[in-house]
Amino acid sequence: MKIAIVGSGFSGAVLAHKLSRGMDCSITVFDERHHVAGNCHTERDVATGIMEHKYGPHIFHTSNRKVWDFVNEFTKFHPCVNRVKAVTPRGLFTLPINLLTINQFFGKSLRPAEAKVFIETIGDKSITNPQSFEDQALRFVGREMYENFFLGYTIKQWGVHPRDLPASILQRLPIRFNYDDNYYNSIYQGIPEEGYTAIVERLLKHPRVELKLNTKFERAGVSDFDHVFFTGPIDEFYGHVYGRLGYRTVYFERHEDIGDYLGNPVINYTAQEVPYTRVAEHKHFTPWENHDKTLVFFERSKFTEAGDIPYYPMRREPDKAMLEQYLTLARQESKVSFIGRLATYRYLDMHAVIAEALDFSEAWLSAKSSGQKTPVFPASI
Ligand code: UDP
Repeated sequence: MKIAIVGSGFSGAVLAHKLSRGMDCSITVFDERHHVAGNCHTERDVATGIMEHKYGPHIFHTSNRKVWDFVNEFTKFHPCVNRVKAVTPRGLFTLPINLLTINQFFGKSLRPAEAKVFIETIGDKSITNPQSFEDQALRFVGREMYENFFLGYTIKQWGVHPRDLPASILQRLPIRFNYDDNYYNSIYQGIPEEGYTAIVERLLKHPRVELKLNTKFERAGVSDFDHVFFTGPIDEFYGHVYGRLGYRTVYFERHEDIGDYLGNPVINYTAQEVPYTRVAEHKHFTPWENHDKTLVFFERSKFTEAGDIPYYPMRREPDKAMLEQYLTLARQESKVSFIGRLATYRYLDMHAVIAEALDFSEAWLSAKSSGQKTPVFPASI
């Protein structure tokens, strides 16, 4: 079989890995960029020698043992707990919201059970079934915390008011009634010793796999292959016939310095007046390395226009309606499958992308070998 995989991010790379070992085939992986690994791409900065996360910091975390074991086959992971700080209009606090945040923000010294009762009293209980980001925040942390931690940051990050965003975005962040300030709830967390690009290169390394960088795959090229796995934006695949799905993109201002600039890998700036959303100092992600110099990135966000790299699917109501139209077109495909963050227009973390690509390649190979219709989408779509 002649297979094309469009995109060499984690979706494409995991598919290439599984298919190359699962069937007799030749696989061409296309990527329009000059490197593999999509937005997880890491490379050593020439001036400082620091491992740079070119598209913003990525901390690997998962509670899925299968995914953790899988990624550990390809590199050594160093333990890393993401501890984020937030500079708010009311001062600097620890995130995610935990007992230290609550006690310092309200000038109290509550124990866990007392804090739970206190937070219950400040949350807006008239909101019973929060649908929007704003309602979710008002319901669970009340107006003061919402305005200091979430309102300004979210307007900067998403370019729209939190009342126009789904509650699911805020549900990504835990609220804790203890002093655990780990940003994630995941059981396994770490940073790959040699960066993410090294993992992807190893996933793609197989005699059956040919990599074509700097090469844009055009839809007309589908006829050259027996099957195409598309991991790029689904609206782009269909030439934006129904319009462009809304995405936010992020961009960075680079600052080189000496020593320790932030004292932490990431600090968020939640006030709307501060022009950036967060600042990241990449050498703090590799504490096992020694660097005198330091590399700092000020991150800003804007709406994605033609030519920008899409990062965050906005999933507003008009986007969801447009997505349905694209999904309906895609469901009619017999030799194209769509997988990953862009092709399915979902806010997925790396671990979720890998889990889905592992499951999908197994489902696809099994359908193929038993002569059944192969799936167009992962099972969750
Ligand atoms: N968020 C916020 N203030 C913060 C951190 C996060 O308002 O200090 C909101 C914001 O809307 C963001 C969302 O919570 O988009 C999810 O945050 P997360 O850190 O998961 O975003 P990511 O790291 O994927 O950009």
